[in-house]
Amino acid sequence: MTKESGTLPNSDTNASQTALRHSIRSQWLILALALTILAGVFAYQTFTAHRDITHQEQLRLQTQARVIALNVERQLEATELALTSVIKDMPYLLRHEDIKLTNRRLQALADAMSGIRTMFVLDAEGTVVASNRDELIGRDFHTRDYFATPAKDNNPSVFYLSPPFKTVLGSFLINVSHVIPAANGSFNGVVTAALDPEYFQVLLSSVLYAPDMWSAINHGDGIRFMTVPDQGGQPGKNLALPGTFFTRHRKSGELESVLTGKSVSDSSERIMALRTVQPQKLQLDKPLYVACSRDYAAIYGNWRSNTIKQAVAFLLISAAAGSGLALFQQRQREMASLAAQAQDLMNLRAEERHKLDIRYQTLQAVSRDGIHILDQDGNLVESNATFRQMLGYGTTDDLQLNITDWDIGIPPKELAAKVRELIHTPAIFETRHRRRDGTIFDVEVNGCGVQLDGAWYLYASSRDISKRVEMDASLQKSRQLQADIFDFLPDATFVVDLDKKIIAWNRAMEEMSGVAKEEILGQGDHAYTIPFYGDRRNQLLDFIDIDDDELKANYQGVTRLGDRLFGETFCPALYNGKGAHVWAIVAPLYDSDGMRIGTIESIRNITAIKETEANLARSNRELEQFAYVASHDLQEPLRKIAGFTELLAIRSKGTLDEKAESYMAYIVDGATRMSSLINDLLSYSRVMSSSRELAETDCSAVLSRVLRDFDLVIKESNAEIVCGPLPVVQADQSQLGQLFQNLIGNAIKYRGAAAPKITINAVKRRTDWLFSVADNGIGVAPEFYERIFAIFQRLHTRTEYPGTGIGLAVCQRIVKRHGGKIWVESTVAAGSTFFFTIPLTPKDTETT
Ligand code: ADP
Repeated sequence: MTKESGTLPNSDTNASQTALRHSIRSQWLILALALTILAGVFAYQTFTAHRDITHQEQLRLQTQARVIALNVERQLEATELALTSVIKDMPYLLRHEDIKLTNRRLQALADAMSGIRTMFVLDAEGTVVASNRDELIGRDFHTRDYFATPAKDNNPSVFYLSPPFKTVLGSFLINVSHVIPAANGSFNGVVTAALDPEYFQVLLSSVLYAPDMWSAINHGDGIRFMTVPDQGGQPGKNLALPGTFFTRHRKSGELESVLTGKSVSDSSERIMALRTVQPQKLQLDKPLYVACSRDYAAIYGNWRSNTIKQAVAFLLISAAAGSGLALFQQRQREMASLAAQAQDLMNLRAEERHKLDIRYQTLQAVSRDGIHILDQDGNLVESNATFRQMLGYGTTDDLQLNITDWDIGIPPKELAAKVRELIHTPAIFETRHRRRDGTIFDVEVNGCGVQLDGAWYLYASSRDISKRVEMDASLQKSRQLQADIFDFLPDATFVVDLDKKIIAWNRAMEEMSGVAKEEILGQGDHAYTIPFYGDRRNQLLDFIDIDDDELKANYQGVTRLGDRLFGETFCPALYNGKGAHVWAIVAPLYDSDGMRIGTIESIRNITAIKETEANLARSNRELEQFAYVASHDLQEPLRKIAGFTELLAIRSKGTLDEKAESYMAYIVDGATRMSSLINDLLSYSRVMSSSRELAETDCSAVLSRVLRDFDLVIKESNAEIVCGPLPVVQADQSQLGQLFQNLIGNAIKYRGAAAPKITINAVKRRTDWLFSVADNGIGVAPEFYERIFAIFQRLHTRTEYPGTGIGLAVCQRIVKRHGGKIWVESTVAAGSTFFFTIPLTPKDTETT
């Protein structure tokens, strides 16, 4: 039962999401940085490669230019030596005047020197006087530059280089010349040598190391002498133009220079090493310039393609790294989301566990049951506060108890076995626990086995049921009391459930039916009617919810009051077939929720009452008979007394004294009153004896007739009669007439100061018509409400109001004969209302 930590934050997930976002951002930053560095490295490499190439190329071109220059210098020096040697030998040669010798000499020199094609000597006029080529002798070249310039300058120490000139063969030549001084120092001709273009051709081509490279020689004046390979029409071209490589180099005054720029020939971008050829040993009138040049594009071709390759590689690397990183991050995010989900799941589980734990702890805490966990030997492993409290310990006490310490409902020896049994067969059972202080209480234990970490434990809850046991006992007592009361009831009573099975049968019922409770309880199918009728049929109880002919045919005086039903009948099987007249009441039974649970019937043996009633009726009848006969028979002597007294009075008129006459008057009056009393008595007894059968009678018609008889009295008394609609009832027409007559007569007779106002009405009720005759007369005090209906009972003297006090008694008798009731409600000095009822006819009931 370890507690799970309660912290279940979402903050972990949030923190890791933030961390992931940071990491993703820094990954991009690192990538960008790496790519920048890589780009830098690439750029640097490219730059250094470019610089190296440039540098290397410059060096190489310079070297090549130098090679050419040095060779040309050597060639010029050699040529100079040859020419000066010719000049030195000139006097000797000229002395001999053997031109052939001179020519041979020149031939030998020219042959010896690969760079010289032609050597010849010109005289002061410019005519070839000697040459290694015979065909030139005698030709006049005084216009040629190589003659004209030295001739003009006449400086024997200067080595004249002629600007390139075109030969007849179309090739260009440069001649180097020396002045041949005369002995007096004057100009004596020129010795000149034409530099062999083939030699230069070979020289220039020997330095070429790339197909795009060319090398060239220029004359100091700017005229191109030769370009190898031929660049198309360059020889003879004047390059001493602004912006040309030549001009830029010449202007710089440097011996060597490396320049880049546009080529004049094809305007391609070129790099060019130039070198001035001006050997110190020679005093050249014009220097020569040699140049080695390469096409820029060709030099950097490789570099460019490498650079493009590198750039492409860089882009590819960037793209690959970028998408790789994006993919990686995608995976990272997926992993993070998976991890978050897993974390969420774990959190959820932890939360669930936590909730479960809280629920468990709460359940334990709030449970009103004593929850306890026992090991297989019945040792208490854990318990909740309720359990500890239940046993009389503190709620936080650490209990070291065994089940034998508290359970006394099971013998101690059997307890361990009981624990094991419960572990395997969960059960609920009742037992008793003993508190720490020794007091004992009843409990209901619910136990079942649980496996924790491989071991079995009994998980049990004890519920204190001492109150329930107590209540059960008191319930039992109260039930017993109820049963006793039920048994004690003098009326035979039984109860059926909704299926009409007998669920209660009291002692009076046993006595009346002769059937013991034990025999009949639980029986249905009209078993209760057998003791009453000898067979199974319906009895009053079965009509509780239905009102039909069978009920009326079998029962008398059937009445419903609320949901109760009353009736009388004769039950032939009761009292061992002796039979009994019974009165019964039936009522539905409800439980405390108002749900119908059955029906109760209580039966009273009214045989004795019935007999008494019958006897009473018989004696009443006899009495009435007697009264009738007596009053009838009394009439005769009374008439005689009255008649003869009157005769006597007439006869003795004037003979008797006053006193005797008044006595006679009393006799007559007494006899007359007695006669009317006897008449009244007769009519009273006739109500029962000489009555007619009840028949349908229209009350309105009866009333109209009565009112007609009262016509005069009504007029005299100024009475107002108000009459509502009256029904047709089952009645004795003449008795009904007498009833109205007596009531209306009284209403007029007992009028007050005001003119009488009489209201006659009839209201239909559930079982009868309620008639009312209301007046505004003197009223009756409540204490006389009953008395006035008794025979010969009056509230007034005859002098106040005439009468015999029989009217209402007759009314009561008539109403009673019709099955109704009569009563009065009145306020003294305000008026009285006489009510009487007449039961509804079956027809009335139908139309209701
Ligand atoms: P009687 O009228 O002959 O006295 P009844 O039996 O008719 O006899 O009446 C009995 C008594 O009831 C009367 O004496 C009278 O006091 C009283 N009573 C009857 N009807 C009325 C009425 N409508 N108003 C007041 N009192 C009445």
